[in-house]
Amino acid sequence: MPPLPDILTQLNDDMRSGGDWGDVASYIPELAHIDPAQFAIAVTMADGETFTAGDADTPFSVQSITKVFTLAIALGRSGDQLWRRVGREPSGRAFNSIVQLEQEEGRPRNPFINAGAIVTTDEILTGRAPRETLAEILQFIRAAAGDDDIHINHAVAASEKSHGHRNFALAHFLASCGNLNNAPEKTLGTYFHHCAIEMSARQLAMSGRFLIDTPKLPRLILPQRIRRLNALMLTCGHYDGSGDFAYRVGLPAKSGVGGGILAIVPGIASVAVWSPGLNRYGNSRKGTEAMAQLARTMNWSVF
Ligand code: GLN
Repeated sequence: MPPLPDILTQLNDDMRSGGDWGDVASYIPELAHIDPAQFAIAVTMADGETFTAGDADTPFSVQSITKVFTLAIALGRSGDQLWRRVGREPSGRAFNSIVQLEQEEGRPRNPFINAGAIVTTDEILTGRAPRETLAEILQFIRAAAGDDDIHINHAVAASEKSHGHRNFALAHFLASCGNLNNAPEKTLGTYFHHCAIEMSARQLAMSGRFLIDTPKLPRLILPQRIRRLNALMLTCGHYDGSGDFAYRVGLPAKSGVGGGILAIVPGIASVAVWSPGLNRYGNSRKGTEAMAQLARTMNWSVF
């Protein structure tokens, strides 16, 4: 097998050599003008050594990938009590589906669909101001990445807020079912801001190291939770595209509508890919392709 840097260079060339880039998320106006024809990959090994190719130092909106971090914080704070408010099953529905939430009486299927992430955000917000909660989330991510230069893009948060009618609908429905502790505006304000955190592929790969599950790493969460988070990423991390991603890639991973994907190779590595054009499930099109090719070439899989 060629050395990893060569594999990544080849992957970057292959991704740029043609084919459909997909469409950027236009429902958040601030993300709508991003050029879809961009690609980055970063692989951080358990010892922290990082290899990259493409636009690996360009910051992008990590969006739903922050749901992994907010879930880690919520579990650390509330433990298994959290599961009273949100489930652990794949949704088989779009990430922002309203109909399922009504059918299931306000208990979201899992913490990675929007309704579920609104609940975990609400959980960590309880007893705190939004500013403190956002500082805690940023601090967690910066500690995980070993990098303080990670910030919120306030223009993206404001843009999502002004067009966030669906998320407002979900939050108000949760409130009507008694599954929101804070005012919908307060919880959503916090949610939009953590979704608007920006990282480069290099930073994102570094931030995923705490999920690799090897004794070499400083522990940010209880060891038994690492497996639980990975299990949820595998089964729910790509919404109604989770089964297909598991079939094609075979690794726990979480996507965001900014075009990023964070994937974990347990015991071995944390991988970030970014390409802003999305497939019909709202997951990065070239990012998924690149992950499939990398997993195949490296023979990385949990199966
Ligand atoms: N902030 C986005 C939303 O709430 C996150 C969705 C995503 O990345 N899939 O719609």
